[in-house]
Amino acid sequence: MTKNPLNKPAQSQPSAAEQVAALLFASQPDLLPPSHYEKLYPPRLLPKGAMVTRFAPSPTGLMHIGGVYMSLINKRLADQSGGVFFLRLEDTDNERYHADAVNTIIQALTQVNLLPHEGVVGVDKGQALQKGSYGTYVQSERVPIYHTFVRELIAKGLAYPCFLTMEELDETRAKQTLSKQRPGCYGKWAKWRDAAPEKVQEKLAQKTKYVVRLKAPGSYDKRLTWHDEIKGDISVPENDVDAVLIKSDGLPTYHFAHAVDDHLMRTTHVVRGDEWLASVPLHLQLFQAFGWQPPKYAHVGPIEKLEAQPDGHNSRRKLSKRKDPEANIQFYFQKGFPVEAVLEYLTHLIASSFEDWRRQNPAKSLADFAINFKQFSPHGALSDFDKLSSISKDIIADLDAETLYKRALQWALEWDQSLAELMKKHETLTKRALNIERGGERRSKRIATWQDLRSQLFFIYDELFNDLPVFPFPERISTLDRNAIIAAFLKDYQTSWEKQQMLDYAKDMALKQGYAPNGKTFDKDPKAYKGHFGDVMMVIRVAICGARESPDLWEVMQVLGVERVKKRLQQSLG
Ligand code: GLU
Repeated sequence: MTKNPLNKPAQSQPSAAEQVAALLFASQPDLLPPSHYEKLYPPRLLPKGAMVTRFAPSPTGLMHIGGVYMSLINKRLADQSGGVFFLRLEDTDNERYHADAVNTIIQALTQVNLLPHEGVVGVDKGQALQKGSYGTYVQSERVPIYHTFVRELIAKGLAYPCFLTMEELDETRAKQTLSKQRPGCYGKWAKWRDAAPEKVQEKLAQKTKYVVRLKAPGSYDKRLTWHDEIKGDISVPENDVDAVLIKSDGLPTYHFAHAVDDHLMRTTHVVRGDEWLASVPLHLQLFQAFGWQPPKYAHVGPIEKLEAQPDGHNSRRKLSKRKDPEANIQFYFQKGFPVEAVLEYLTHLIASSFEDWRRQNPAKSLADFAINFKQFSPHGALSDFDKLSSISKDIIADLDAETLYKRALQWALEWDQSLAELMKKHETLTKRALNIERGGERRSKRIATWQDLRSQLFFIYDELFNDLPVFPFPERISTLDRNAIIAAFLKDYQTSWEKQQMLDYAKDMALKQGYAPNGKTFDKDPKAYKGHFGDVMMVIRVAICGARESPDLWEVMQVLGVERVKKRLQQSLG
């Protein structure tokens, strides 16, 4: 029995379209029929309402914060509904491929705890590690599948080989521009639409390069209406452009591969960046051509930032991989934002209601916050570092000193080795310092990133304190008056002082030396005083910490110990 790839009764004459399909795939007699794949990848047995979602990155060498955002959204939707979240590698665009890119993606998803349930779940010796029965999940390994399905479309007369050369396409574009017509291969420009099999055969014999195009069934003067889960009802002209499905190198375009893959992988919801919104009319035509139920589409606006314009007003633009360091997820980890802060921040960008929810549920896990499409703004979310810092401060405030030490050290080992050395050398001192204003009601919100540790706590380390180039004493206090404050404090300092006793002493000393008891009194008659109580405390703080800001001074002094405190006071007498 001879092979009959088109499953037609042997006696009937093949149609012109079938002949073209047979000609194009003559060298691939082993291509399996579509039914093979339909059986191999049956509908998933999942509870009603379970969402099958995916993250489908093109490996480009960097994990954009937007990629983490999309993964978070897709994974949460799947988790919440008892569904599946998989990762498909869209690596059919050779020009954009980077060898380490998969590693970068997997490493980032591991860092943010968003590894997929299925698909590409890891990398081993440079190879993608895959899990799940709907694979392979690497598009470059699925070429025979795309060929099977495109052959099917060609045989049905719904797609065709197009032999237009680059020059011809350029010429078409020039003519269209000149006559103010829409660009693209449609209508009379689509010269190879209904070419006879003989013509195709002739070109193939000449080894002319070709692409496969969809025979777009739409008319531009009719409208297509569909519902996007985020953008709402959308109505646009039908697509009449014969989009490329298979490129001249035999690889599929995104459009075609996405339709075939999301059908065979039984994706229920395609949740992706809204740069693809304009392609939906084409994508729906692809599903229709195959007679498949399309997935639900949800197009997410990008994360944007404000940019000052020359005329003074701010305009929004997408975070750019080239221009904005914060577009790279590693930027956040390098700065030392805890991973849970980044995830809460991204959740805040998804749904502004998250802030209220968090306030009402401070102890709940982030996973308890349910997301849904209604919460999304149809426009992009605005990147907001103040928000990220404030979320991060809240999260760090709740960590105990031990955990804080461990996590900050882990960060410092990677990003600030000299700080890591000091933290290890002075482990007990560091933990005691980290414990200041921590626990119970006292929630210090000074630390937004692990990096802040250096600026917030450097003075606990003599090695850093002794190297300080300047001591920022308050300017209005003369050296003489400053010395008088420090000398008095040094003479009277009692290790047994409780915090209030120290403050009472300092206030008394301030009054005796001619300072106002507070800023208000001072402001009423500045000439009558050398300064006010705040200046006196500031002098002592700067002498001991080398900084105008520090955690509670009395507690810092307990941590530093009496010897160190006295030595520093002594040294600062200038
Ligand atoms: N590979 C596409 C991209 O990186 C994926 C879009 C999608 O999620 O379908 O933009």
